[in-house]
Amino acid sequence: MAKVELIDVSLNYQTLGGEIAAIENVNLRIEDLEFVSIVGQSGCGKSTLLSLISGLIKPSRGQVLVDGIKVSGTAKKVGYMLQQDYLFEWRTILDNALLGLEIRGEKTAQSVQEVKEMLRTYGLGGFEHHYPPQLSGGMRQRVALIRTLATHPDVLLLDEPFSALDYQNRLSVGEEVVKILKEQKKTVIMVTHDIPEAVSMANRVVVMTPRPGTIKSVHEIEMCDQGLSPLQTREEPQFREYFTAIWKELNAGAE
Ligand code: ADP
Ligand code: MG
Repeated sequence: MAKVELIDVSLNYQTLGGEIAAIENVNLRIEDLEFVSIVGQSGCGKSTLLSLISGLIKPSRGQVLVDGIKVSGTAKKVGYMLQQDYLFEWRTILDNALLGLEIRGEKTAQSVQEVKEMLRTYGLGGFEHHYPPQLSGGMRQRVALIRTLATHPDVLLLDEPFSALDYQNRLSVGEEVVKILKEQKKTVIMVTHDIPEAVSMANRVVVMTPRPGTIKSVHEIEMCDQGLSPLQTREEPQFREYFTAIWKELNAGAE
């Protein structure tokens, strides 16, 4: 059984100016422990797709299944990390990391202990009682990730997780995040408009058409079996071939 499955999913937004078709007839199967990247032009419906999987919005047509069960509203199994880190400036790092648990009423001595351990493991041990403005962009991103992981989702939805970081940071934070997600054994669906990022992290890259978003193609990234890190993957000769193929698809008809 697929971990996540979309069957003929379409989504129209109702606006004052009429209906906007954001997603049209998307079919996608994602197996347990896959890391799938979704790329596409701005406005093609990438965030909409994640919101559909998270249960925040309901499809206009079709079905979204997680573990074979129809998604109806947000569920504990699915963690959603939004584009901005949304850390609360007035809460300490520890309290920010505990927020998801707090909202779910699952803040217990044991879960607090677990979060403290995760902060330590991921290089934030000394920062529990600091506040977000005292941290670098990469550290903040790790806090947001720990907050999402704290509630033990099986599936993680990441919406342009590195877009607020500059290029150098993006590379190293991406490297760290992939390591964390592999250790934690998650199924990951990551939206990005950065092709190298998409290819270097994922075992499959889904290319979407401009709005209304449909799936244009799916690329199996064979290098991902070799146990390489994202930075090492970028050094592989095959990397360029994937990059070029996906770039051409994204830019077809745009010239
Ligand atoms: P992406 O994440 O790929 O940039 P989105 O999923 O955010 O794209 O949006 C897809 C399309 O739907 C865009 O044209 C956007 O303007 C429109 N859209 C997104 N959210 C809403 C909304 N709440 N109401 C109306 N239109 C929306
Ligand atoms: Mg978006």
